[in-house]
Amino acid sequence: MIEYPKTFKDYIEDLVNYWKPKLLLHHYDISFKYQDKQKANVDTDAAIIVSDRYLQGTITIFPQLLKAWKEKNYKDIENTIVHEICHIITDNLFMGAHKYSPEIFHDLLDHENEKLVQMITNIFISMKEKGKL
Ligand SMILES: [Zn+2]
Repeated sequence: MIEYPKTFKDYIEDLVNYWKPKLLLHHYDISFKYQDKQKANVDTDAAIIVSDRYLQGTITIFPQLLKAWKEKNYKDIENTIVHEICHIITDNLFMGAHKYSPEIFHDLLDHENEKLVQMITNIFISMKEKGKL
């Protein structure tokens, strides 16, 4: 059983509250799940499930992100959180494409979606670093 300190949870939730309006996603309600176990065989520190219809997102935090916080890798944590929030931007298109395309395209779609989300993330992080956000 992993104990997530309140200071860590506050840090994550403050980051989301900072970034949500910057990404013009202030109308989304974002909640959190703190997982005890690392996802099997996956090097993931967070994941999001988006409900477009209800303007909700649930971010699942994995122990790896807590480890990053303990190691003071704040830049990595911010990148992860912005990435997860940016999934909201592409999710509808991605889910639709996934649903109506043959399975043979799914790996490619996953790859391209992750790349697009990360490119959007990089733009916003870079704008913040340049003081333009
Ligand atoms: Zn992603």
